[in-house]
Amino acid sequence: MYDVVVAGGGPVGSSAARFCSEKGLKTLLIEEHAGFGRPVQCAGLLSRKAFLECGVSERSVLNEVSGARIVSGLKTDLFFDAKKTMAYVVDRSALDLEMAQNAAKAGADVLLKTSVTGFRDGFVLTTGINGKKSVRCRMVIAADGPRSVFTRFLGMKRAPVFLSGIQAEIFADKPPNIVELHPYASPDFFGWVIPSNDKAARIGLCGERDVYKRFLRFFGRFEGSNIHLVTGTIPIGVMPKTYGNRVLFCGDAGGFAKPTSGGGVYTGIRTAVHASDTALKCCERDNFSDSSLSGYERSWKKDIGRELAFGMTLFKMRKKISDKTVENLCSCMNNPEIIDEIVKYGDMDRPREVIKRMVLKPSVMKAFGGVAKAELCDLLIGSTVLKKRM
Ligand SMILES: Cc1cc2nc3c(=O)[nH]c(=O)nc-3n(C[C@H](O)[C@H](O)[C@H](O)COP(=O)(O)OP(=O)(O)OC[C@H]3O[C@@H](n4cnc5c(N)ncnc54)[C@H](O)[C@@H]3O)c2cc1C
Repeated sequence: MYDVVVAGGGPVGSSAARFCSEKGLKTLLIEEHAGFGRPVQCAGLLSRKAFLECGVSERSVLNEVSGARIVSGLKTDLFFDAKKTMAYVVDRSALDLEMAQNAAKAGADVLLKTSVTGFRDGFVLTTGINGKKSVRCRMVIAADGPRSVFTRFLGMKRAPVFLSGIQAEIFADKPPNIVELHPYASPDFFGWVIPSNDKAARIGLCGERDVYKRFLRFFGRFEGSNIHLVTGTIPIGVMPKTYGNRVLFCGDAGGFAKPTSGGGVYTGIRTAVHASDTALKCCERDNFSDSSLSGYERSWKKDIGRELAFGMTLFKMRKKISDKTVENLCSCMNNPEIIDEIVKYGDMDRPREVIKRMVLKPSVMKAFGGVAKAELCDLLIGSTVLKKRM
């Protein structure tokens, strides 16, 4: 019998399997594909901190990024460069493979080309290369991505929003150290240009609707043939309850991607850390009741809960911001003092601090021009300074 079965061998499942094995738990990692990391469903931009959380060598790193350009699409761009590596562009298939290898090295058993199809009476039901099987275990970590089957088995509520994403890779002559964000390309989220090296770039966007149409329009602005098409789904908004019936939900299966960027590797691995801690406690106490599992929700909330809630408010606010407001914001923030502050406090994984600093500035507040008042208030709730200004 296994202590823990981890469903899904993405970055989050492989991390959870590694952490559980390192803690001495008998762990099985099940992946539906014949290998790890394919098909790629990611732009591969990871902050340095996120990359460190992956616990891998630099083998998957293709490029290093030090700054960003926010392209308003009208007159003004906002540009900042920290002049040091802030993020890596990675080959996700190589990254995922190394993370799964690390789980296996730590002692996890691995079952490939096998889908989890159910969980009943302490048995994980699978179908795949070995036919239909059932695997006995004490508990499960569900890290089976955006279409998690566990939410269905257990009748649990899912993330409130699902974004679609699409990305192409072309040969392009772009500064290799600068990422571009293009809000106008997708009015409920944004488009991006991420240099994968000094000769190629990933051009993509995410959104709630008309995503292919938007993508064709955006992609049309660039020259060159697509050499790698990436499509995928990002759940936005954590499911209302992230545990139950001997299962802990991690990563995209639980809706843990950052609502500000759609990036889910950092937050997902943080959930794997907390899930493995809780799994150890449950196994040591031989207690898998909901009250024992609930320690997981308390731990991830303490770690990333405020950032995710803040991000959700920003996500709602984004939909109310027109291209003109983006232009106003870029133009008012285009001053050396503000740019220094962005460089000093900017954190891709925990953007709350820098955004709070920005929206508290009277010039920035003015640039919003009365748009998204309720969300602005929510962002800074408790700030008497802000309430007076509104
Ligand atoms: C277009 C796009 C761009 C993105 N760009 C970024 C980015 O730049 N940076 C970033 O941090 N994040 C990005 N993301 C989000 C990121 O890819 C995810 O948040 C991350 O992969 C989540 O990891 P995960 O392990 O939870 O899920 P996944 O990576 O989806 O892994 C789930 C795994 O479970 C397996 N699986 C599913 N069902 C079953 C089953 N029933 N049985 C067995 N195995 C199963 C799948 O095959 C898969 O291997 C992007 C997403 C998209 C769509």
